[in-house]
Amino acid sequence: PPRNSNAARDIAYALHPYTDHKAHLQNGPLVISRGKGVRVFDEQGKEYIESVAGLWCASLGFDNERLVQAATDQMRKLPFYHAFTAKSHEPLIDLSEMLIERAPSPMSKVFFANSGSEANDSAIKMIWYMNNAIGRPEKKKIIARLKGYHGITLAAASLTGLPANHKLFDLPIAGFHHVSTPHHYHNALPGESEEDFATRLAEELEQKILAEGPETVAAFWAEPIMGAGGVILPPAGYFPKIQAVLKKYDVLFVADEVICGFWRTGSYWGSQTLDIQPDILVCAKALSASYLPISAVLVNERVFQGIAEGSSSVGTWGHGFTYSGHPVPAAVAIETLKIYDEMDIGGHVKKVGAHMQAQLRARFADHPMVGEVRGTGLIGAIELVADKDAKRNFDPAQKVGARLTKLGEQNGVIMRAMTNDSIGFSPPLIISEEEVDEMLNRVAKSLDEVMVQVRR
Ligand code: PLP
Repeated sequence: PPRNSNAARDIAYALHPYTDHKAHLQNGPLVISRGKGVRVFDEQGKEYIESVAGLWCASLGFDNERLVQAATDQMRKLPFYHAFTAKSHEPLIDLSEMLIERAPSPMSKVFFANSGSEANDSAIKMIWYMNNAIGRPEKKKIIARLKGYHGITLAAASLTGLPANHKLFDLPIAGFHHVSTPHHYHNALPGESEEDFATRLAEELEQKILAEGPETVAAFWAEPIMGAGGVILPPAGYFPKIQAVLKKYDVLFVADEVICGFWRTGSYWGSQTLDIQPDILVCAKALSASYLPISAVLVNERVFQGIAEGSSSVGTWGHGFTYSGHPVPAAVAIETLKIYDEMDIGGHVKKVGAHMQAQLRARFADHPMVGEVRGTGLIGAIELVADKDAKRNFDPAQKVGARLTKLGEQNGVIMRAMTNDSIGFSPPLIISEEEVDEMLNRVAKSLDEVMVQVRR
């Protein structure tokens, strides 16, 4: 890159998340400078459709004026206040009320943080604190799932079930366990129905709880649909069976709705699409359309009562962030939720989501490099395979997903490749059917181009 260009200065100074830094020193960044609707533009003015809404998050696209106004108005009125030691402010109160009114199962209170990882960490500490407060300190183990993604702080990364987030970091920390990924395509036995596979996974969970001792197992963590693990939808009947086991042993269900929340799956919450009644719900990302960072933990009355008990039994709950419930992101989140209601974004997602799912299947199900097409609403994936009949993925050394996303950039679509070369789609919820078609035309072109580059 030219000296003193943004690209050259990025190479000189920036340390990027999830980036191969040796390659970055050679290739430099893609510098995005502005956005409009479902599109972003780089410094040279080249246009890209954002097929993942950034990081599954920019739900209202990249130029919503109402959100800009909401932030500006709140900054003028009260640019900061905090929530420690019973301080409060109207944006925090309004947003708490709106979230409780919209929750998928009866919820009682809301705690705010700044990211999905912080929200998950906070939920873990609430559960540990609650069980201490009510006199069962040994009930603290947590079970999550392989390929689940719950963030990268030390505790959230321990929930996460992806090897790259564990190895080299001495994770998971003690007391965090993982059960199988509910992915029928790869993990079902030959001839096993979805129902039978779901039953087997529920039995696995029960055996795990019994092996650890039910009196030591506090909570089970799950995304309704696994996002970063590859957009994995569970088999039919999975969550009702899992929840029956959890109830039997008094284990809390924590739904991580960081990607699935706010209509992504075609219902307000992924929990509604997948028949989950969570005790605790974690959300972020589309909560503020990602214009400012904010996340939330909703807890039911029973959990709240346990936490409240702690003040007299074990001492004040020692947890919270400077920016918990920060008024500016809270104001943006309030406006975001109002926009979802006013524009009936749910009705829009149902219609355009059905179109995207049909188009994904029509275009890619028979493609020689596509093993599985999956998804619902405006979240989906195609999984690339070297051998369609054997469901065999490519050798990771071929970096097929990375090659595809690079070609996608050339063709004007920003894509996301995950483990097993699964390519995820979660465009801004405001996308139109015509834009879905345009996006998938660019994806299809890139896929045909990558096909001649790889060995199968
Ligand atoms: N939970 C889920 C389901 C996520 O997809 C993510 C991020 O992608 C997180 C938690 C972590 O959120 P953050 O990156 O804001 O910490």
